[in-house]
Amino acid sequence: MSQVIVIGGGLAGLAGAVALADAGFEVELYERRPILGGRATSFIHPSSGERVDNCQHVLLGCCVNLLDFYDRLGVANHIDFHETIPFIDESNRVSVIGPSGLPAPLHLLPSFLRLKTMGIRDKLSIVRTVAGMVRHVMRSRNTGYPETHQAAEAPSPVSMSAWLLAHGATKRAIEAFWKPFLISALNDELDDIDADYGIGTAVRAFLINRRGYEVGLPAVPLGDLYAPCIDYIERRGGRVVFNRGVTGIAVHGGKVASISLQDGSTVEAGAYLSALPFDVLCRLLPQSQASNPYFAMLAGLSVSPITAVHVWFDRPVTELDYAAVIGRRIQWIFNQSNRHSGANSVENDGTNAMENDGAYLGLVVSASDEWMKMPRQMIIDQAMEDLRSLLPAVRQAELLKAIVVKEGRATFAPNPGCDALRPGPSSPLSNFFLAGDWVQTGWPATMESAVRSGYQGAEALLRTQGVRTPILKSELPAEGLMKWLAGNRGI
Ligand SMILES: Cc1cc2nc3c(=O)[nH]c(=O)nc-3n(C[C@H](O)[C@H](O)[C@H](O)COP(=O)(O)OP(=O)(O)OC[C@H]3O[C@@H](n4cnc5c(N)ncnc54)[C@H](O)[C@@H]3O)c2cc1C
Repeated sequence: MSQVIVIGGGLAGLAGAVALADAGFEVELYERRPILGGRATSFIHPSSGERVDNCQHVLLGCCVNLLDFYDRLGVANHIDFHETIPFIDESNRVSVIGPSGLPAPLHLLPSFLRLKTMGIRDKLSIVRTVAGMVRHVMRSRNTGYPETHQAAEAPSPVSMSAWLLAHGATKRAIEAFWKPFLISALNDELDDIDADYGIGTAVRAFLINRRGYEVGLPAVPLGDLYAPCIDYIERRGGRVVFNRGVTGIAVHGGKVASISLQDGSTVEAGAYLSALPFDVLCRLLPQSQASNPYFAMLAGLSVSPITAVHVWFDRPVTELDYAAVIGRRIQWIFNQSNRHSGANSVENDGTNAMENDGAYLGLVVSASDEWMKMPRQMIIDQAMEDLRSLLPAVRQAELLKAIVVKEGRATFAPNPGCDALRPGPSSPLSNFFLAGDWVQTGWPATMESAVRSGYQGAEALLRTQGVRTPILKSELPAEGLMKWLAGNRGI
């Protein structure tokens, strides 16, 4: 059996490791921390004793490779899918986007037309911009995705805000729909998002297939989704090694010869799959390699933050499961009370925080640059101010505790033109392959991109061994009218 070393136990490394173990490799995975999951994980908060996810992670029906990964691990049943997306506007009116009997791409149209958050002119502008997106997909039928780079109408790089304005989006449609959806999906302001990523995300979620937009929420802490990886890899002859950060990558004769670990030891294998964050990878490579254009272009990528605020109340404060929020600092509210809090939240005195019908909410702010500089208490105060005006029951409730998790390097920033800075999985070193949500996957930085990159890296490695079995799953197929408009392959 051939040996392979996987570096990094985030979703990219885990997906690559599991696929390579399935392909018959003896996988050794080295992770710097004592837990799996990287940027999508759970941990015990030191002062509160709560086991929390670093942040609520949402997947959509179009995340086919992530779902395939969960299937392999036998945890797909822990994802609850929802068919509706509630929005709360500045006047606390709740509107819901949800399905109808119409075929794709019209399936959500009736619910858009019923939105209370905007007027008819704004709704028609959404129809116009969506038509522009459909035309975009039709143009790409013969050219492949992504394609605005080749489109005469929208020369690249172009920002999402410029594209929306050029396609007739009204200010209110941008504020009340495009911003809440795209800022949270892509983690940046619309001025700083490449239109290709924004359009690709909207098309996948809302247009191509009726299932694309369905919201998947884990019913267990994120960490529990990856726990089976250890056994999965071990049963196939490999092992997962925690608390062993890689400190250097030695190169000899156009190949990686070995890697050094933080305990001073050195390990080697026939092939290596790196699933490190891009900045860490650049630091670990020998200077001669880091200056190779394939790696050096990574210096052009920048990052964007996300802040999560977890709050516990002494009583229920909302009936909603989750909601997108328009026009406030908080962008999403997730009601964790009925999900996994009861099973995991043990207070310092050993009592369960939710025993007395309390409430546990997860609040999320993407592109949270302002909050990164703010002290914890000021963030909690601002979040509570928003919550009191959004949910009247919060005004009477007692805040029992709050946790703030700031992730300064949450995702790479999807800035216009950044796609050209994302390398493919095969590096100039013949036995060294790359994975990570920042690798060229056609997707912005998401769990789906991470898993795709892991599968792509495993495929590239296997190709060098003469194995051409596909691992990567195809995108959801175009259906309904989209089948005719976009062709069978979708995007
Ligand atoms: C707050 C937040 C909210 C998010 N919300 C969503 C969401 O709702 N939906 C969604 O799809 N995506 C979301 N994302 C993005 C998603 O979490 C990432 O795209 C994905 O987890 C990235 O996985 P990865 O394996 O590429 O990288 P990482 O998760 O960063 O994995 C890299 C791994 O390498 C390890 N490592 C680092 N240095 C070393 C070393 N020297 N030696 C060995 N190991 C090392 C790290 O500890 C880590 O485990 C969110 C991200 C954040 C931070």
